[in-house]
Amino acid sequence: MDRANIVIIGGGVVGCAIARALSVKWDDVFLLEAMPKLGMGTSSRNSGVIHSGLYYTPGSLKAKHCVRGNRLTYEFCASHGVSHRNCGKLVVASSKEEADELGRLVETGHANGLENLKIVDRAAIRVREPHVAGYQAIEVASTGILSSEDLVKAYARVAADQGANILANARVERLEALPDAVRVTSVAGEIEARCLINSAGLFADEVAAMLGSSMARHKIYPVRGEYCELVRAKQDWVRGLVYPLPHAVGLTLGMHLTKTLWGRVLVGPTARYIEDKNDYETNRESVEDFARGAKPLLPDIEPADFVPAYSGIRPKLISPSSPLVQAHGRGMADFIIERDPEFPRVVHLIGIESPGLTSAPAIAEHVSQLVGEVLA
Ligand SMILES: Cc1cc2nc3c(=O)[nH]c(=O)nc-3n(C[C@H](O)[C@H](O)[C@H](O)COP(=O)(O)OP(=O)(O)OC[C@H]3O[C@@H](n4cnc5c(N)ncnc54)[C@H](O)[C@@H]3O)c2cc1C
Repeated sequence: MDRANIVIIGGGVVGCAIARALSVKWDDVFLLEAMPKLGMGTSSRNSGVIHSGLYYTPGSLKAKHCVRGNRLTYEFCASHGVSHRNCGKLVVASSKEEADELGRLVETGHANGLENLKIVDRAAIRVREPHVAGYQAIEVASTGILSSEDLVKAYARVAADQGANILANARVERLEALPDAVRVTSVAGEIEARCLINSAGLFADEVAAMLGSSMARHKIYPVRGEYCELVRAKQDWVRGLVYPLPHAVGLTLGMHLTKTLWGRVLVGPTARYIEDKNDYETNRESVEDFARGAKPLLPDIEPADFVPAYSGIRPKLISPSSPLVQAHGRGMADFIIERDPEFPRVVHLIGIESPGLTSAPAIAEHVSQLVGEVLA
C-alpha cells in the first residue's frame, strides 16, 4: 500500500491552496478529489469577489484570513497570470437611517486593519454608478474580482509542479485510524497518510463522520444561492461591485451587483436552506424576486431585465431552526480549522463559506502550521 506524508481530501480552491503551501515543505503530498475535475463545486459557483475583510468580527478567523488572504490572492494572481481586477466596491446605505450602520462598518473595517475606507455622498455614488440609488456609501479600495476557475487551476498547477500528486475521480469512501497513520480508501485505491486534511467543503461533516470523530457534530446545512444576469441591454447600468448593507439581509452579504471580468452583470446570490447538497437547480427564485431584491440599489430595474444564471451552495454551520435565523433570518459562524481532538493526525476545515475563496492562501498557511505540529 502507498504511504504518504499528507493526504488532502477535496480539490476545491481551499484544498488546492493547501496542496500548494504544503508541497513546498513536504514530499509525498496527495490531493484526492471526488469529481472528474478540480473546483467543480462551490469553488466555481460563487461571485468571484476578492473580499476586503470589512464585515467580519474582529479577531475571528474569517476576519484574519480574509484580510491576509486579500493581499496574498492579489500577489498570487499577479505572479501566476490569474485574471483579476482590483476594481474596489461600494457598500450602499439607502437612507439617512441606514447611514449610521456605515459608520459602524467602517469601525469594524479599521479594527480588522483595513485602510482606504471612504464614506461618500449621493453625488459621488452617482458619478461612480449613474444608475445606482443611495444616500451614502463606503468606497472599499481593496475589493476586487477574479476568475475562480483560473485560480483553482493555478494553485493546483503550482502544487503539481512542486511534486504534489493530484488525483481527480478519487472519492474518499472510508477512513480508518491506525496507531501511526490514517488509512484512506478512495475509489482510486488505498493509501496510508501520516497526516490527513479534511477540506471536503459541503461534505466535511460527512468526512469527519467516516472517521467516527466528534467533529462530525459540526453539521453542515446547505444554503443555496441563485444568481441572475442582467440582459445585455442593461449591462452598462452597473460598472463595478455594488453591495447593500449586510444587516438588512442576514444570512449573506446581500443581493449584490457584480460586474464580472467578462462585462456581464450578476445579481444575487439569494439564500435558501435546502435538503440536498447537490441540488444546484435555479428554479426557486423568480425574476420578480430578483427585481424586488435589486430595486433598492437599481430602482428602475424590471423583472424582464433578468435572466437566470447559476447557483452555488454555502456550507452553513447555523441550523435553520436556530433562534437567530428564526427571528431575523440571519446568522454567521466562524470558520472551523482545527486538529481533531481524538485523532490528532487529522486537521478539519468545516464551514468554509464566504470569504473562503479570498481566504484560501491564508487558510493554507494556518493549515501548514498545524501540519508542522502533526509531523514534528
Ligand atoms: C453563492 C456563493 C458566493 C460566494 N462568493 C464568494 C466571493 O465572492 N468571495 C469569496 O471569497 N468567497 C465566496 N464564496 C465562498 C467560496 O466560494 C467558498 O468558501 C470556497 O469555494 C470553499 O472552497 P472549498 O475548497 O472549501 O470547498 P469546495 O469548493 O466545496 O471543494 C470541496 C471539494 O471536496 C470534494 N469532496 C467532497 N467530498 C469528498 C470525498 N469524500 N472525497 C474526495 N473529494 C471530496 C468536492 O467534490 C469539492 O470539489 C461564495 C460561496 C457561495 C456558495
